[in-house]
Amino acid sequence: MIYLDHNATTPIDEIVLDAMLPYLKSFYGNPSSLYRYGRIVHTAINRAREQVAALADSLPSQVLFTSCGTEANNLALASVNLTPGSKIAISAIEHPSIAEPALHLKHKGHDLIIIKVDNNGLIQPETIEHLISLQPSLVSIMLANNETGVIQDLAYIAAQLTENGIKVHTDAVQALGKIPLSFNRLGVQLMSLSSHKIYGPKGCGALIIKKDMQINPILFGGGQEQGLRAGTENVAAIVGFGKAAELAQAELVQRNEHLLFLRELLEDSLMSIPGLRIFSQNAQRLPNTVQFGIPDEDGEMLLMRLDQKGVAVSSASACASGSDKPSAVLTAMGIEVSLAKSAIRVSLGKSNTPAEICEFIKLLKNLVCQK
Ligand code: PLP
Repeated sequence: MIYLDHNATTPIDEIVLDAMLPYLKSFYGNPSSLYRYGRIVHTAINRAREQVAALADSLPSQVLFTSCGTEANNLALASVNLTPGSKIAISAIEHPSIAEPALHLKHKGHDLIIIKVDNNGLIQPETIEHLISLQPSLVSIMLANNETGVIQDLAYIAAQLTENGIKVHTDAVQALGKIPLSFNRLGVQLMSLSSHKIYGPKGCGALIIKKDMQINPILFGGGQEQGLRAGTENVAAIVGFGKAAELAQAELVQRNEHLLFLRELLEDSLMSIPGLRIFSQNAQRLPNTVQFGIPDEDGEMLLMRLDQKGVAVSSASACASGSDKPSAVLTAMGIEVSLAKSAIRVSLGKSNTPAEICEFIKLLKNLVCQK
């Protein structure tokens, strides 16, 4: 299998798995227990907190572990104390784990502002000026998009908003481990992360919280995570997330160079397919992500045919419910419906090779050029 869907999830790193196993087998204590078995795992969680904080350039005390990136995003939106008339704003290209809870808040009677993007998927400065005049309580803008890989100029945007007293959350799930990430330098108040996108285990995430930010818990019934996230910690997964973060930090430059090399190889070859368009091509993007459309193709059909040939990619043409609506991200970018429905996303990973890229291109060309 040629696996080219690393934005969906990554295989767990062997080193990460080895670090986790003792916490599934031998060290089964509850981290809240005061005796030695409890203290051992409590210490392991705090070590992981330091490792995740180091990769995100934040303080360990700012890291709150959650069950996934989705929970971190939901928790971030729940932090707004919604008084009558208060508003929240999200970009038009957010992941469903932001878009859906935001809609839920709207249904509860709060104003929801959708921040427009241009045809590269970028938020323009004049849009931010207008947003400031609307004075939302919280703005959520993802750092890197999961479909196109487009990266927002978030430090600039956050500076404008925070100067005007507006709090900012960013979903940095796709950015983590792929580009240098600094919670401090971004200047946001909240930032969501996920373990399984960086060769860590599934079922673990984190919300990074600035000191002065008040959080409204969504789970109650225990004092874990400073009383902000009740529930006995998923110790092995947290240890794995920490180890994956440590490896990502140590290998960041090397992974980045490898991914950029593969992406260039991939894009050069893709451009020889007649009519093919790479989305957000003129914007800064994640080094591992290429989303493209091919006129008169059906993205889902192409995905299934590639699957039959042993290649795993993602299509962006349909939402999870199986409707045949085009991707909300591409729609927000103003991409024509037919081209949006043909979209395929390739997301590269650290173990992909040039030979795999060449094989993928060969198979794709066979499917689309010889119809
Ligand atoms: N945010 C983005 C941008 C994502 O791509 C994903 C997962 O695909 C999530 C949030 C959700 O993360 P998790 O799978 O850990 O819930």
